[in-house]
Amino acid sequence: MNEQKLTELRLRRWELLSRAREILDNNYRTFSCFVSRLNPTVEVWYHDIKKLANYKGLFTCGSVWVCPVCSHKISMRRSQELRSVDMTKYNLYLGTITVSHKLSDNLSEVLAAVVGSWRSIQGWRVWRDVRQSVGLVGTINSLEVTYSVKNGWHVHKHILFVMDKKLNENQLDFFRQIIFVAYQKALKRYGFDISKKRGVKITEVHADNLSYVAKVIKEVVQKGYKEARINNLNPFDFLDNSVLSCERSRHLFLEYVRNFTGRKQLTYSKGLRELFGLGVERTDEELAIDDYREGWELLAFVDAEKWRLIVKRGLRGQVLEIAKSGDVDGLLAYLDGIT
Ligand SMILES: [Zn+2]
Repeated sequence: MNEQKLTELRLRRWELLSRAREILDNNYRTFSCFVSRLNPTVEVWYHDIKKLANYKGLFTCGSVWVCPVCSHKISMRRSQELRSVDMTKYNLYLGTITVSHKLSDNLSEVLAAVVGSWRSIQGWRVWRDVRQSVGLVGTINSLEVTYSVKNGWHVHKHILFVMDKKLNENQLDFFRQIIFVAYQKALKRYGFDISKKRGVKITEVHADNLSYVAKVIKEVVQKGYKEARINNLNPFDFLDNSVLSCERSRHLFLEYVRNFTGRKQLTYSKGLRELFGLGVERTDEELAIDDYREGWELLAFVDAEKWRLIVKRGLRGQVLEIAKSGDVDGLLAYLDGIT
């Protein structure tokens, strides 16, 4: 991605965060994210090699679901962690499970059906035998939701199946069938069903193709900022006033926030992190906090009144874009101009 596109995306995340603050109230952590000061002054730091700037001394919400700024950092760091694992010795399969849905479905019901049904497969008494028969070492699954103006909430899970043996076509088909049957049966208890064609998809990932694995991992972990498509909206698109009407966006965003806050986005099956040598998993809140060691330098201080104006004028992103070059005079002149 070129520098201009990256700049646009960074600025967009700050704009979306400002919009989230308009929609939410102070019962939500994101309302205060990168607004509330922890110290009398806010520090602006920059990294000369990475050409990035950041604020220090502010409260961060650490919400992977609600906050466009924290979410990006958390997803990026989880993705980096997973990419550090040597996957070449495993056979990888990427699965997607969805549910048939319609515009009138409540998000809470669709979500409960998908999450509960996937969980019940793992509690299933023959699951251990199935695991053994296909050589399943563990899974990493990510929970996602998109929205379509035609068909409503589309809750789905991406699942990376890590296996210690390679399945031939028949074995893979058998595995897919077993999951399909168990998952469909579980969904029916919630009053939902799945399409035979699209409900459960599992495809092999060729581990010798590392760039592809990296892409897959990115897909599992990192929610992309896709161009807004009216039938495949990312929840952060609700914060973009140009996509849906203001009132509808607000309503949908709040429904989404109420249902997803506190949920886990990425889940490793028991024992898999140890096997990968990844150690104790850091929380979303921990991952959202920036690390200012290696190469970061303090560039400037912003006093409380100036900070209030920067937030009010929606300039948090712009200030960082100026600061990232390390031009302290340019930054101070820009800050002076904010009134
Ligand atoms: Zn945040």
